[in-house]
Parts: sequence; C-alpha cells; structure tokens
Amino acid sequence: MAAGYIKPSAPAMARMARWQSCNGIISPKNLSNKLDSFALHRLTTSMNQPPHRICILGAGIGGLAAAMLLAAAGREVMILERAETLGGKARAMPPAHGITMLPVFEALFGAAAMPPLTRQRLLARHLWSDGATLDIVDGIQANADAIGRFAGPAASQGYRDFAARGQRYFEALQKPFIETHRPAATALSTNATMMRRLGLAALAPLWEGLAEHFAAPRLRQVFARAACCVGASPLQAPATLMMISHIEQQGVWQVEGGVMALVEAMAAHAMAQGATIRLGTEAVDIRLRGGRVAGVALANGEILPADAVIANADAAAIGAGLLGREAAKAVPALPANKRSFSAIIWRLKPRDMPAQSIFLPDEPTAEFTELHYRNRLATQPSLQISGGSTAMVMAPARTDTRPLPPEALTACAAAARALAAAAGHNFEFEDDVPQTPDDFTRQYPGTGGALYGQAAHGWSASFARPVARTSLPGFYLCGGGTHPGAGVAMAAISGRLAAERVMENRP
Ligand SMILES: Cc1cc2nc3c(=O)[nH]c(=O)nc-3n(C[C@H](O)[C@H](O)[C@H](O)COP(=O)(O)OP(=O)(O)OC[C@H]3O[C@@H](n4cnc5c(N)ncnc54)[C@H](O)[C@@H]3O)c2cc1C
Repeated sequence: MAAGYIKPSAPAMARMARWQSCNGIISPKNLSNKLDSFALHRLTTSMNQPPHRICILGAGIGGLAAAMLLAAAGREVMILERAETLGGKARAMPPAHGITMLPVFEALFGAAAMPPLTRQRLLARHLWSDGATLDIVDGIQANADAIGRFAGPAASQGYRDFAARGQRYFEALQKPFIETHRPAATALSTNATMMRRLGLAALAPLWEGLAEHFAAPRLRQVFARAACCVGASPLQAPATLMMISHIEQQGVWQVEGGVMALVEAMAAHAMAQGATIRLGTEAVDIRLRGGRVAGVALANGEILPADAVIANADAAAIGAGLLGREAAKAVPALPANKRSFSAIIWRLKPRDMPAQSIFLPDEPTAEFTELHYRNRLATQPSLQISGGSTAMVMAPARTDTRPLPPEALTACAAAARALAAAAGHNFEFEDDVPQTPDDFTRQYPGTGGALYGQAAHGWSASFARPVARTSLPGFYLCGGGTHPGAGVAMAAISGRLAAERVMENRP
C-alpha cells in the first residue's frame, strides 16, 4: 500500500458521513447489520455522547487488532503508522512462517473473510553436521514414533510426558495469565488452582526442565527452540515455554500470500468498519489536558485531538521518551540487559526446502552463553532456513552500545554456511547485505534492535511486561513488548486487551 492516507471502503465512508450528518449522535439504525450484539450494546449506550476518537500509533499486528475491534464497536479510529507500509515486524517475517492460535484470529474477523490458510504438516526439520535429522510434525503420535527411532523408547515416552506437560502449562495459564489484562506475579501464590496445575518445576529454566524428559542433548536442543521463538535463551527462559510446543500441536497455519496477507486483511477489515490509516505519519508526543490524554503531536507539526491513544510502538521506545515526557513517565524504561535478542537475516537463492529447516551446532548451549552473557554473535550459531528463501541467526540487541563490526557479520555468515554445508546443504546468499540489528534499530528506535520486547528471562519476567492500561489516563499499550508477549497471536491478544480497556473506560 502506498504512503499517505489509506481510504476506508465506500460503505465505511458512507457510514462515517451519516455519523457526521447526525452531529456525532450515532444511531444504531445506521449501523452495518454485521455488528454483533456486544458492539450494538456499546453503541446504544453511547448514543448521546460525542464521538469517541481513538488514535492508534502503529499498524503492527497489535495496533490493527485493536483497530478492528474498536472500529467494529463504533469508535472513530485513526491509525498513524510511521513507516510507508503496514505490518511492522510482520514485514520481516519470512512468508513461509505460519501463525498459531487460530481462534484468536477467528474471533477478530468474526463473519469477515480471512485469507486462505493451510495447516502445516511438517513443523520443522532439524539437521546436524553428522547428517542426523529429526522432523517434528503436526501430530504427537508421529513425533513420539520418530523420537523413538532417533533416541530410543525412553525418549519416545519422554516426549509424550513433555507434550502433556506443555498442555498442562497452557491450560493453567491461558485464562488467568495470557488472556488476563493484569496478571500479577502474586497470582502464582494466590491462585492455588493455577499453581497446583503448574507445579514448582514450571519456574525452573527451560533447559533444566527439558532434562527431565530427554537424556539426549540433541532432543533438549530441539525443544529448547521454544525460547528462540520469543528471542530468549533457553538457559534463562522458564519451563512454562514448553507450552509453545503444545500451541504448535494445535496447528501452525500458513497464510496464502504470507503473514502480510493477514496484515492486509486486518487493515481492510478495520477500514471496512470505518477506521482510517495514515502511513508515513510519525507520532512524537502525547498531549494532555486536565491530566488526561487529549491528542497526539506528529513529526510534521500537526496536532490530532484524541480521547484515547493506544501505542503499538515498542514499550522500550516509549520508556526511552520517543513519545514525549508524559508518555515516558507512564511506561518504565527497559534496561539493555533485559532486551530480547535481535536477528540477522539473509535472502537466499530460492531452493526447495521445508517451511522451517533448523541447522543445529554440535555444542547445544554455547550459542546462548555468547549471545546473552558476552553480547556478541555466536561463533557457532544455529541457522534457521525458512521456506528455502531466507536464512536467520540470532544476534544480541546492543546496537546502541556495541555495534556489530562488519568482520563479525562476515564471520557469522561463514559459520552459518559452514554449519549447513557440513549437514550436506550449500546455500547461496542472494546478496551479501543482510538485515541486521542496525536495520531493526532504525525501524524500531529505542530498542537496540530487540525484536520481541523484554526477554522472557527468569520466571517473573513474564509478569513484568507493561500491560494495556498505563498510569496516564487515556493512554494504552499493545504489541509484542507488552503483556502477553511477542509473536503474531500474542500481539493480536494484546490489541484485544487494549481495545477492551478503552471500551471499559467509556462503554
Ligand atoms: C524475522 C522475524 C521472524 C518472526 N517469526 C515469527 C513467527 O514465525 N511466528 C510469530 O508468531 N511471530 C514471529 N515474529 C514476531 C512477530 O512478527 C511480532 O511479534 C509481531 O508482528 C509484533 O507485532 P506488534 O503488534 O508488536 O507490532 P510491531 O511489529 O512492533 O509494529 C509496531 C508498528 O508501530 C510503528 N510505530 C512505532 N512507533 C511509532 C510512532 N511513534 N508513530 C507511528 N508509528 C509508530 C512501527 O513503525 C511499526 O509498524 C517474527 C519476527 C521477526 C522480526
């Protein structure tokens, strides 16, 4: 989509014109019959109030999810996006990457059409330099059989126990944590049911937890990838991340046209409900009146009035002052040592490969020690090839204090290619200019290149993420740096949580 305004659909324009022509009084008669009864109730109760104007800063997954819900509930929604395109970090996601937690998106779209989806059968192929491979597929029985052939019957049973544990964690956490607006660390001790279902072992590092199920380091290495999905080290991330394997077993869905097709559909749905999107438009300050949010100042000097602002910008950037002093007071700054990892991404000359091929180094944990403790690229990185067209390694998010020297990038590329070559795969890079943490910092200032917000390091880190409602009245947050965390589905949930808080404040 081109820069500037993206126009709402013709029916949405007509609906907005009707709203304007009745002096801000919204009549349910004017509404699309697609609105559900909840939205209708909200609108009926706000009939005698002036329009509720909401600015959403950022057209990432979280911002778009919030816009879909708020526009459907009859709010006046304007999305301001600094970049010339929609999608934020989803733009960097290789098209072969799928989405999980489909019900989250089905609830967002309601009766509207989502792009076509295909359930992925082969979730990831793992490869080692001695030629060993292990496919993890969609199906616990098939995986248990493959793991039995890979490492013996005890490992097969270990996998079944691991899968059951991941399911238990997900079921214990879904309602009281993931889908709750303000999960408190104290909930762990006060919510006896949740604590009983989790057990104390849930708080141990993932790497240690995996040892209870898998004697073979290679199997621990495979299932430790759950931490990498959220830019964390399995040596520090909590064992609760075992639930990611369970979530994947509920379905990884490839979107026809890639995740950007989903982004476009979310934007189209929000606009069909009346939302407006302005691309190439950066917000630089939150303006207050009487101690609450009254508008947004743009980089071009314009001031837009708003009754509420939802920032989809990285919480770290807000804490660092990129949305002005008042916003920074409401969002804690994120110290560099608490950031999640960044990445280096090369384009490959396309080859026929599974959606995910992961080349794993012989030494399973050295990579994380180098990334996390030494803040440098790993000497032996693991390499993720997506759809045979992109190659990715993890990188420290320290561009502000420790920029990566060009020779470190060259050495990292050589190590990654050597790892794949040892496993029998020679990849040619399309160009020698990868996307680096520097590029991500330019796109997401104030983050050091971190792609997943605050790292999930330590059992309490997940409870320390900022939540949707801030201490500044009328100012809300969403996105992967806020609760419940990073990833497309979690960012979408965060958008829903923010939209609900806005509507709670003004039903
Ligand atoms: C390489 C890569 C691979 C990934 N793979 C997966 C995967 O397989 N599965 C998965 O679930 N997740 C994956 N992710 C993570 C996923 O893409 C993100 O967690 C998710 O897209 C983040 O969405 P968000 O709501 O945080 O918004 P963001 O993507 O952070 O977007 C925020 C938007 O706000 C805009 N913005 C910021 N400040 C301002 C301002 N002041 N004014 C106006 N606009 C502003 C930004 O330009 C940006 O467009 C991957 C990410 C990357 C980078």
